Amino acid sequence: MKLVSSTDPILNKECQLFDFENPIMDPKELADGLQRVRKMGKGVGLAAPQVGLDTKVLVIGMSDFETEGVEDFEKVFFNPKIKKYEGESVYSQEGCLSFPGLFMKVKRPSDIVLNWQDEEGKHFSETMGGITSRILQHEVDHLEGITFLKRADKYHLDKAKKELKKYYRYKKRLTNGKL
Ligand code: ZN
Repeated sequence: MKLVSSTDPILNKECQLFDFENPIMDPKELADGLQRVRKMGKGVGLAAPQVGLDTKVLVIGMSDFETEGVEDFEKVFFNPKIKKYEGESVYSQEGCLSFPGLFMKVKRPSDIVLNWQDEEGKHFSETMGGITSRILQHEVDHLEGITFLKRADKYHLDKAKKELKKYYRYKKRLTNGKL
C-alpha cells in the first residue's frame, strides 16, 4: 500500500461502499495498512482512495504526535457518512498527504453527526467536534471524491500555492548549494 500521486483520477471520484459480505480485502488488514501509511506520512488521517483503493474506508490517529491536550488514539471508519452538520463554520489550517507541502485555511462547520461501521460491520452514530470533526470532514470528503482544493476559497488556495512555489524555489536553491 502506498500513496497515489496528486493527479491520480481516483482522488476525484466517489468510492464504492465497503461490502462486508464480499470485502475487497480483510477489514482488519485494510485498517492496519492504512494506519501504517498514515503514520509513515506523519498524517492525522488517511482515506482508502489516497492509496488507490476504491472503497469507503478511512483512518484517523494522533498516536505519533506529542500535541499537548490531545490524547493518543487510532480509529478506523467503514462507510462513514455525515448525517448532519452543526455549529458555526470556522477556518482552520489543513494539509493533505496527497498534496505534500500544501497547507491552507479551509472553512468547515465545527461539529458533525457521523454514522459509520467498525471493522466487524457494527453500526455507530456519534456527534463529533473539535479536531476530530475537522479531520473526519476532510477524510469523508476524500471518499466522495472531494479534495480540500475544492473546499478552499480562491484567496486561500492561491495563497497556499504561492507559498508552495516559494518553498520549492528555496529547496532548489538549497540543493544547488546556493544557500
Ligand atoms: Zn487529504
